[in-house]
Amino acid sequence: MKTIKLSLHFPANHVTKPLTYDLVKKFDLQINILHADIQLNKTGKLILDITGTEWNIESGLKYIEDQGIKYKLFTKSIIWQEDSCVHCGACTAVCPSGALQMDKMDWSLTFDKEKCMVCELCVKACPLNVMCVTI
Ligand code: SF4
Ligand code: SF4
Repeated sequence: MKTIKLSLHFPANHVTKPLTYDLVKKFDLQINILHADIQLNKTGKLILDITGTEWNIESGLKYIEDQGIKYKLFTKSIIWQEDSCVHCGACTAVCPSGALQMDKMDWSLTFDKEKCMVCELCVKACPLNVMCVTI
């Protein structure tokens, strides 16, 4: 089993396709939707984690392509250099996924890597360059 992260770009005439349902039913994939921006009659964007066997993931990606939906795999990841962090919270204000949050008990930063969409906004927002990107 492996997990990949990808973004899907739906053309306007494809936004009503039950793509995630198909990926689960036809290819036995586990889908974790991290971000969705889909409106009727407009283009849509979906960011997902997909977990499954190598073969099922490859088959699922081919199915996505065959449906006329473009996808992009995330090859980068975000590293939080915790020791250098001063927990100012500036990065939480720009994080669209909720991956970066301030702990309500002690107001320290928490980073949930599973929720990260690798948008890199926190990299630009951090005044101390604590957040960085790896390939
Ligand atoms: S902006 Fe930088 S220093 Fe401030 S909480 Fe985020 S990672 Fe830490
Ligand atoms: S890259 Fe940074 S701002 Fe973007 S989702 Fe991940 S943690 Fe949040």
